[in-house]
Amino acid sequence: MRLHIINSNSDGNCYLFTDNEGNTLIVECGVRFEKIKQAMNFDCSKVVGCLVTHEHGDHCKGVKDAVKAGLDIYASAGTIKGMKMDSHRLNTIEKGAKFSLGPFDIIGFDVHHDVNEPLGFLIRHEEMGTTLFLTDTIYCDYTFPGLTNVLIEANYSQDIIDDKLSDNRFLRNRVIQSHMSVETAIKTLKANDLSKVNNIVLIHLSDRNSDAKVFKKRIEDATLKTVTVATAGLTIDNFNIYPF
Ligand SMILES: [Zn+2]
Ligand SMILES: [Zn+2]
Repeated sequence: MRLHIINSNSDGNCYLFTDNEGNTLIVECGVRFEKIKQAMNFDCSKVVGCLVTHEHGDHCKGVKDAVKAGLDIYASAGTIKGMKMDSHRLNTIEKGAKFSLGPFDIIGFDVHHDVNEPLGFLIRHEEMGTTLFLTDTIYCDYTFPGLTNVLIEANYSQDIIDDKLSDNRFLRNRVIQSHMSVETAIKTLKANDLSKVNNIVLIHLSDRNSDAKVFKKRIEDATLKTVTVATAGLTIDNFNIYPF
């Protein structure tokens, strides 16, 4: 399995999971669709679908053009409503119900963000095992058995916002009440059995309230796992069930 990150921050989010057969699952459509096409060499024929966690622009701004290009979008009923669009290509995900897109099995679960019905995803594929996709949430209510790869938000750290946003209570509260801190990411990871995890990818770092180097080190020290900070254009080739 190959993971390609088109972008990962509050400007836009989009992640491509491509298996050995070329089947591609798109997670988040928060960049211009043109960029997604480019990343796939303008061939969308092997896209099995596109999951969207919620209706904020940095997660869904490309949906309109993706739909026009014939891609199927999957999101909660609340998110579909929030996107204010009408198309037979918008498919509703029922929380907790497993569904399949090509060789990918998916379960959506509820998270805590400042929108109607945001979701996180568990994505299974025989090449990569069980992957957790968790972003734009204050914390996570669940633990997940048998994880092999994790993408998790590490938006800010407590000390950085205490320092930088001490005189902007409104913005500070908005961040705390909608995004995951690196401290909570550590707690969330440690609440799960990580013994089979090969990759931890930190996503959606805030431009001003994060420090990529420090966050990577903190998560490495806490988990003793391979940690990568998501950056635009990055590819991880062995996003697999086994570490080889
Ligand atoms: Zn976001
Ligand atoms: Zn959001």
